[in-house]
Amino acid sequence: MSKDTFVAVIKQLRLFLALAVMLATTLAPLQPVAAASLNANGGNSPSAAAKTAPTTVTITSPANGSTLVGTQMIKVSVTGSATVNSVQYKLDGNNLGSPVTAAPYSLNWDTTTTTNASHKLTAVVNASRQNATSPTVTVTVNNPPPPPITSPTTPPTNTSLAPAAKVSFTFDDGLASTFTNVQPILAKYGMTGTDYVITGCIGMTTAPNTCHANTDTTYMSWNQVETLQNDGWEIGSHTVTHPYLATSDATDGQPNVLTPAQVTQELVQSKADLAAHGINATDFSTPYGDYNNAVLAQIAKYYASERGFADQNNNDWPAYNDYIINDYQVEGTTTVAQVEAKIDDAIANHRWYREQFADYPKERRAVIPWIW
Ligand SMILES: [Zn+2]
Repeated sequence: MSKDTFVAVIKQLRLFLALAVMLATTLAPLQPVAAASLNANGGNSPSAAAKTAPTTVTITSPANGSTLVGTQMIKVSVTGSATVNSVQYKLDGNNLGSPVTAAPYSLNWDTTTTTNASHKLTAVVNASRQNATSPTVTVTVNNPPPPPITSPTTPPTNTSLAPAAKVSFTFDDGLASTFTNVQPILAKYGMTGTDYVITGCIGMTTAPNTCHANTDTTYMSWNQVETLQNDGWEIGSHTVTHPYLATSDATDGQPNVLTPAQVTQELVQSKADLAAHGINATDFSTPYGDYNNAVLAQIAKYYASERGFADQNNNDWPAYNDYIINDYQVEGTTTVAQVEAKIDDAIANHRWYREQFADYPKERRAVIPWIW
């Protein structure tokens, strides 16, 4: 069938003009099967031949010979006159997921669940009168290896902190007051800080709200978070939903301990949320200072440091290490003299740390490890 003929047929299908236009612009080069497809999709007055047009299935994505990472949507094109019941994808001959029963019969395939190697994909159509198997599409899966766990004995390079810093101010939760009150005060003295933000709470600019950290306070907008970064602040991650990562608290609405997968989701999604706004979050603080060694190992896959909360937990992963930034909690009742004394201790002989960790390297004098 020539293109001219095909166009002439389409012109006669006035009731289905929209459909015809779609086919004319998506099927190139024009093939006889296009006419069968048109009939199968409802062209008027289908011929006897069209009523029994054989079912065919072709994997249209991914392309044969392509290299895949992450999640790949597999798409098919099904033609023929029969009614499609389902499409079962197969990976190297084995069922890949469950049969897909709804048009357009696509399947999201997480390629990280298989090996980095060459693999063969096929699609089997279960149709009302005739089943069909697609031609094989050969792909190469080549996912990067998971990030290595930061060695607990080798301090990571943290370029987000100024080399001259001896004391770092950190703030949690991404509160609006950090933007409106704290930033101007620090800026007055030429200083910046770190704000560990809860990505799921950013934008909750009125109270009460649904932020798990505190429903009665207000949080920054994304615009304010980005402005803070542009002002020189470090923006770190403090999860998406502010859960307990290692324990649970039924009275606080979290009766169950998170699964490792749920912890990973909090770590990865918050990092992704920030990246979507141009923020490369390299450091993390854990809600409520709640962590254990298993959680720390997970955090270390994605972040260069972990800051606890008033050092509630033992720094013993697996022995004392530089990964955890220890902190001194400053509340409204803390006096300037108390803070000053802590800083003097740290600079002079590092007793701030040595109070708790006998094996803290004596030559290291900074409040923040590995800076000085
Ligand atoms: Zn918090």
